[in-house]
Amino acid sequence: MEQEEIVLGSHVSMASPDFYLGSVKTALSWGENGFMFYTGAPQNTRRLPVSSLKIEEGRALLREHHIPDKNILVHAPYIINLANLVKPSVRELALSFLKEELERVAAFSVPHLVLHPGSSLGEEKGKAIQAIAEGLDEVLEESSSSVTILLETMAGKGSEVGSSFEEIAAIISSSRHQDRLACCLDTCHIHDAGYREDDIDSILEEFDAKIGLSRLKAIHLNDSKNPRASHKDRHENIGYGGIGFATLYRYVHHPKLLAIPKYLETPYVGEKAPYAKEIEMLRSGKYIENWKDTL
Ligand SMILES: [Zn+2]
Repeated sequence: MEQEEIVLGSHVSMASPDFYLGSVKTALSWGENGFMFYTGAPQNTRRLPVSSLKIEEGRALLREHHIPDKNILVHAPYIINLANLVKPSVRELALSFLKEELERVAAFSVPHLVLHPGSSLGEEKGKAIQAIAEGLDEVLEESSSSVTILLETMAGKGSEVGSSFEEIAAIISSSRHQDRLACCLDTCHIHDAGYREDDIDSILEEFDAKIGLSRLKAIHLNDSKNPRASHKDRHENIGYGGIGFATLYRYVHHPKLLAIPKYLETPYVGEKAPYAKEIEMLRSGKYIENWKDTL
């Protein structure tokens, strides 16, 4: 049997006039066999009707390249905060947006939506975790889709919830819909949260003990601009940060992670997208010193 190819892609924008078709074309041009996108601007919740987003054209192009829909991931806007107990009206808006977002994700035939769990905004962590789990239950109960929500591991910036595997596990175990919840591990975030991200075997052992490896559905593969445990969350290009190429390469090719799709969210270099180069190096293992200068 032919070995399945490692799924490696990046964040790709979705813009007028080609929308999803354009996203697929861009991802293919960077040598990607999967990608992640926002259904609109990441910083707001305004969304166009899915019928205008050239979804079928994009999916047809994916099929032409033998890329299954499951290689694609949607990222929810980062302003969504299910733990906002300070302003209930804001939380209500987040809930109604997420309900609609699940339907949108389903319209793309994408199986997973990645979500930042939320920020406690000075409230007790335990209360925030309950609020997130209750919010997720409400959203999942009112959705006709079968989309799974991936809770992302966070750097612990400000009052972020989800900067430890325990907190992610606590959200999942507080939910009535654990079958619809899973996890996305971000290498920059766990590094910034204080984990020894370079000891992958120990990371996976701990992840398995606390959350369960079967719930690991995606990896955000990023280097970090800051030292370990800085709680900053600033992504850096592959090989230029505190994690380094060797470790990130090992995440891509680790035997226990071969089936998990990986997505880069590294910064542009000036106007230029770094992804084709980063992906080529991460596939081949051949790192080019100062590769940014060659873009
Ligand atoms: Zn994220």
